[in-house]
Amino acid sequence: MIKILMYNIMDDEKIVVTEWLKHHHDVQIDWNTVTLNPDTVDLANGYDGISTEQDNLIDDPIVYEKLHEFGIKQITLRITGYDTINLPLATQNNLKVTNVPAYSPRSVSEMVLAQTMWLLRNLHTTQQRVQNHDFTWDGLQSREIHDLTVGIIGAGKIGSEVARIFKALGATVLAADPIHRPELNSVLTYVDHETIFKTADIITTHTPLLDSTYHLFDAAVFQQMKPSTIFINASRGSVVDTPALITALKNHTIAAAGLDTIEGEADIFSNDFSTTDFNNAYLKTIMALPNAIMTPHIGFYTDNAIRNMVEISLHDMLTIIAGKTSEHELN
Ligand code: NAD
Repeated sequence: MIKILMYNIMDDEKIVVTEWLKHHHDVQIDWNTVTLNPDTVDLANGYDGISTEQDNLIDDPIVYEKLHEFGIKQITLRITGYDTINLPLATQNNLKVTNVPAYSPRSVSEMVLAQTMWLLRNLHTTQQRVQNHDFTWDGLQSREIHDLTVGIIGAGKIGSEVARIFKALGATVLAADPIHRPELNSVLTYVDHETIFKTADIITTHTPLLDSTYHLFDAAVFQQMKPSTIFINASRGSVVDTPALITALKNHTIAAAGLDTIEGEADIFSNDFSTTDFNNAYLKTIMALPNAIMTPHIGFYTDNAIRNMVEISLHDMLTIIAGKTSEHELN
């Protein structure tokens, strides 16, 4: 029997694990709701493999040394980001680290579609009016998506799915990306960033957060956009200079923004602050603006994505425990 311990499991992951176990009778899986750290690493003693999904960095050498001492050969992440792992320390202790590079690009893309259509059809304003029993039409006339140009900054795994969705709806799709993918030639036209900033009706960003993309969307960039532009960010908060975005929304430099991520979200999103205060002035300002909508980083959060996160990570773990090589090894 192969014994696996899953750290920091979510309730919806438990459902997938329970289903997976029906087809893997030679595996025992136990789980907990704590993160892997120096205080919890001893829980792994006696197991053949571990996985985790957490925000906080595991930087104390003791964690890696103890896992090695317990005979464990891997740390399997159930998410894409691996900045929580000290890869050199893992390597020194013969621990193979894997991630799940793509659990469902479609999940985020459909959120982009939802936010775009919500803003395009003025549903934010409409909903507020209807709740106040105001059923007037003033200012609610919309444009139609097939008449519009969607500009994608970063057409990788998620951005290319966004392109396919909007192309299917009849929109003109432009993309700026240093990598040109021939398979997207029938879906989009590659242009430079400036062309997108100046001409697109909907601008959606899907770059990773890198030194080169930190505050890529600053005041100068928002100034280039049309006053009718809808801006969407479901990538990383710090790709956007948030005060510059707030100014652009307040001054109607752009029409509206749909955000699934914002700077300083880490200790806020996925937590309940309905009875206590939270500390993020940007978020409070954005939430109060009539031309912005905010979702708490749930773009990825679909049934397919959770199933893939669990199943791909368990497959990687069994591969490494069996002494084979996983295609998702990071070290
Ligand atoms: P990816 O690596 O597949 O694609 C990123 C693309 O951006 C690449 O094609 C790259 O060449 C391009 N790029 C890099 N710098 C650029 C620049 N300056 N200008 C234009 N293009 C640039 O990444 P992905 O899996 O598609 O993820 C995209 C983003 O989505 C990441 O920021 C990721 O963190 C985020 N994400 C968000 C959620 C969510 O729930 N909202 C979930 C998963 C991923």
